[in-house]
Amino acid sequence: MNELLKKSAAEQSKALKNKEISAVELTNAAFDRIEKLDEKLGAFNSLTKETALNTAKKVDEKIAKGEELPLLAGVPLALKDNMNLKGSKTTASSKILENFVSPFNATVTEKLLGNLVPIVGKANLDEFAMGSSNENSAFKKVHNPWDLKKVPGGSSGGSAASVAACEATLALGSDTGGSIRLPASFCGIVGMKPTYGRVSRYGLIAFASSLDQIGPFARTVEDAANLLEVISGHDPKDSTSLNLPVEHYAANLNNDIKGMKVGVIKELMTEGLSEDVQKAIEKAIEDYKKLGAEIVEISLPNLKHSIGIYYILATAECSSNLARFDGVRYGYRTPDAKNLMEMYTKTRAEGFGPEVKRRIMLGTYALSSGYYDAYYKKAQQMRALVTQDFVEAFKKADILISPTCPNTAFELGAKASDPLAMYLTDIATISANLAGIPGLSVPAGFDRDGMPIGLQILAPQLQESRLFNAAHKFERANDYYLKLANI
Ligand code: GLN
Repeated sequence: MNELLKKSAAEQSKALKNKEISAVELTNAAFDRIEKLDEKLGAFNSLTKETALNTAKKVDEKIAKGEELPLLAGVPLALKDNMNLKGSKTTASSKILENFVSPFNATVTEKLLGNLVPIVGKANLDEFAMGSSNENSAFKKVHNPWDLKKVPGGSSGGSAASVAACEATLALGSDTGGSIRLPASFCGIVGMKPTYGRVSRYGLIAFASSLDQIGPFARTVEDAANLLEVISGHDPKDSTSLNLPVEHYAANLNNDIKGMKVGVIKELMTEGLSEDVQKAIEKAIEDYKKLGAEIVEISLPNLKHSIGIYYILATAECSSNLARFDGVRYGYRTPDAKNLMEMYTKTRAEGFGPEVKRRIMLGTYALSSGYYDAYYKKAQQMRALVTQDFVEAFKKADILISPTCPNTAFELGAKASDPLAMYLTDIATISANLAGIPGLSVPAGFDRDGMPIGLQILAPQLQESRLFNAAHKFERANDYYLKLANI
């Protein structure tokens, strides 16, 4: 492998500017790596070589002319396969969209292309981003680069695995209940979910619209901060996008955090925590003390309801969002229907996988008359209580920390037949989506089998800079981030 692929985006940018390597060479090195490795890993649904190399050529032209390069220009990136790149397939890892070619670019894609970031391919995911292990892809499973027998986490498993295995330096994922932070934690990299509305979702295939956010994956906090800067901003095409200026998130990474109040979420430090994860988080607390932070204990009394709330709201919203896949406008249509109704039902029965069907049925039930008040409305009311818990918590603490997940990556198949056990994997991540606050996962050590552990950090809405600052200080107080999967 080209050694430069192991470096951070910041270091790769420097090497490009110093003409140690050309952008075309770097992009080709990424493709060599993918071609050698991805059969084992399964991180990519498709490669977008032409787009990537065209972008890389533009970078090299700019360098030759001595022009200034935009942020992250020339750094290879993997795009989760639920975001549109014009002229290439967007499958959401579903049979129903297996042959769907996107006629337009997502806003994030436009921004990446505008900054001359080569998009090397479309990363595998759980079908329609529903899952925590990436075993729900209709095409193939993703394997964890640290141990191929284990899951990479989901739903953005391909994005996380590709960055952890140095097939790409950066990736985008989407996070509805933890789908960026969980795979980042299982794969030993940084993954960040921004404040709801910070990044436009135009061109992202909707799962649960009141929860979905797009965010960055990288091997360092600095790279993640820069990628967030590239993709953030107001977009008239997404009515939930916030009309606020984009910050230079990497500007404050090195600020002193002396006196910062770090809240430890009590409820996430007890129940079901694996011994090794607990030790790693306790060590993180000690690290923050050494950095001069003040540790406070925080209780989020309604956190225990968050999974129940989520599985009503997310399924209700997905049952509505996925109604558009009906065999008429997009993708797959059953070949042998006798009438219109049969065309709809057969198309959906044949096109969707079991987890997606389960969610559509649960959501339709929660929204049906007679049950709406008991389930959907109740869940909405409970969501407000979870949000209020955070408002109270942030009166006492500047940031909150917890494990990203109570355990490390599990074996492929271990939870595949037990949806409830799978849903519980998201206990630490879901509440941030309910409250719309930003959160990230940063490497925090390894368990006894050498599998990565993630520290989750949460901040109040729009305090991305504070979040990156606290994460960067912790990252640089340790050397976990320098250790790469041996694959
Ligand atoms: N694991 C959660 C689910 O299955 C979250 C998914 C996500 O964030 N997209 O719904």
